[in-house]
Amino acid sequence: MIAYVEKDACIGCGACPSICPEIFEMDDDGLAVSMKEQVPQDLEDSAQEAAESCPTEAIVLS
Ligand code: SF4
Repeated sequence: MIAYVEKDACIGCGACPSICPEIFEMDDDGLAVSMKEQVPQDLEDSAQEAAESCPTEAIVLS
């Protein structure tokens, strides 16, 4: 699974790093970024939950 954040859509709510801190963090600009594009298998559920919790659907998983 690949995860990335569409920065144009992120509103900096902070939900994704609180749900899945292994993959997402807040950047210096106050927007989320994925630290690893390739999500390890044991973190896929957590990354999925973060994506579903994003209010603007800014997290893309593929
Ligand atoms: S949950 Fe969505 S809007 Fe909130 S910080 Fe993460 S990517 Fe941005």
